[in-house]
Amino acid sequence: MFGRKRNNGITIKASCPECGDVELLPRQVRLVIWNTLEKNYYSFVCPRCFEEVCKPANEVVAEQLTSGGVIAEHYHIPEEVKESASITMPPITPEEVSNFVIDLGQVEDVVSAMKKDGRRK
Ligand SMILES: [Zn+2]
Repeated sequence: MFGRKRNNGITIKASCPECGDVELLPRQVRLVIWNTLEKNYYSFVCPRCFEEVCKPANEVVAEQLTSGGVIAEHYHIPEEVKESASITMPPITPEEVSNFVIDLGQVEDVVSAMKKDGRRK
């Protein structure tokens, strides 16, 4: 997938989904490394169709790219981001759970109670 041959400069071989194998200079390739490995990717603008190609970069690919001269951009997901993610999806509070239990205790026919709920919306 990647090779480095050529007279003076190193060329990176990558493949475009449209054009197939293309050759790129290291500076044409962007390599993004996160502290969460599954987010790593590399991207480049295909020199033939000018479409941006973006692909996941596993450890092997990342190493091949960097050894080919691509400068990796390192990013870290800060703790704040993880915290704000938990704000957008808050866990169910004990209060909500107990309210739910009380509601269930008040209805005899759960299915018709749910149907009533649906009509109200
Ligand atoms: Zn292309």
